[in-house]
Amino acid sequence: MAKRVLVVEDNELNLKLFCDLLRAHDFAVEPVSDGREAVARAREFVPDLIVMDIQMPHVTGFDLIREMKRDPELRAIPVMAVTAYAGREDEERIRSAGANAYVSKPISLARFIGEVRALVPSDAVEEEPEPEPEADVEDEAPGEPEEEGA
Ligand code: MN
Repeated sequence: MAKRVLVVEDNELNLKLFCDLLRAHDFAVEPVSDGREAVARAREFVPDLIVMDIQMPHVTGFDLIREMKRDPELRAIPVMAVTAYAGREDEERIRSAGANAYVSKPISLARFIGEVRALVPSDAVEEEPEPEPEADVEDEAPGEPEEEGA
């Protein structure tokens, strides 16, 4: 089953970018553009990961992360914060609010997905086994040398 990611982001372009990127990597996504709906939607969707913008109108990502980490039903869900803040102080603030990871904007798509994968390991049963190396079938039969340049 696809892993589920709730994406909370007020900027519609970023919201679409994050959701498209996650869908392209086989995640099931639930977009939330109004932070005020984030907690209720998290309860309904039961995500494996929450991607959380920090700067939003009405309610900040800091407040939402703190609220979720106080909630017995939601606290175990990892949170990846996404923000334009770049300073070390801000990163510490984000982590002390309870975020498990932090990606700064403008985001690197590879880093974004790398952090997502680190927080949401795929189930062992979903992993494809390594294929057995195929036997070499190109050995020529003995006694039948190919003629060259004849
Ligand atoms: Mn924002």
